[in-house]
Amino acid sequence: MGLVETEALVLRTYNLSDADKIVVSLTEKQGLVRGVAKGAKRLKSKFGGSLEPFSIVNITYFQKEEMELVSIRDIELRKSYFSDASKPEFLQKFSYLADLLTKFAPPHDPNERLYNMSRICLETGAVELESLDIIALYFEYWILKLGGYLPGWKHCSKCAKEFGNAETADLQLDFNLTCASCSAGRSVERIGPAERRVFNEAQNMPPGKFIVFVAKSRTEVTSVSGILKQIISRVIDREFVGETSLTA
Ligand SMILES: [Zn+2]
Repeated sequence: MGLVETEALVLRTYNLSDADKIVVSLTEKQGLVRGVAKGAKRLKSKFGGSLEPFSIVNITYFQKEEMELVSIRDIELRKSYFSDASKPEFLQKFSYLADLLTKFAPPHDPNERLYNMSRICLETGAVELESLDIIALYFEYWILKLGGYLPGWKHCSKCAKEFGNAETADLQLDFNLTCASCSAGRSVERIGPAERRVFNEAQNMPPGKFIVFVAKSRTEVTSVSGILKQIISRVIDREFVGETSLTA
């Protein structure tokens, strides 16, 4: 692989030894990358404040074939979210979203859409603290969609009929929706048109616009986000056995 230079979002760091740290980042070119930053724990480290969580950086690292852990040569800070991360609600929400990324983003697998979506959610979250729950829903939606785990909520999953504007659908155990005649009374939860609207529109606009679009639908945001969290837990249980559970 050799030397790689890419923009990245720092997700978290761990202490590796007295002097070194492990840095987990979502890179633009290579997906999730774990790397060793030598000397990062020293007071006068060349990495400075660039290793704070949620920093946008330019990172240069050396990758040996078949070794997951790369060797970080240089990190240059492009944008710091250090002061935003001092706000508890921001820190809590983005720590949760960073946890999702470390679980869902495959290592060394480029996904530019995932990177751009994460970056724009961070930028929007820093100026929309009142809407962090909406940004979290947006993020949950996209991380499932880009991973291929998101059910479609426009049609009945049994008869493929498109739901009407005023129609209430039935949520099934596999998180698909069915129409009343197909569900024959079996339903985990009723999903109304307002919830389907929140769900379906997340894919049509950037997070800033989505916040405005769902501003009057906070109850539906909470309810849809709850369902997305259940899907996320199901995926993690099934595909990432042994990982710790997530907290929102
Ligand atoms: Zn049906």
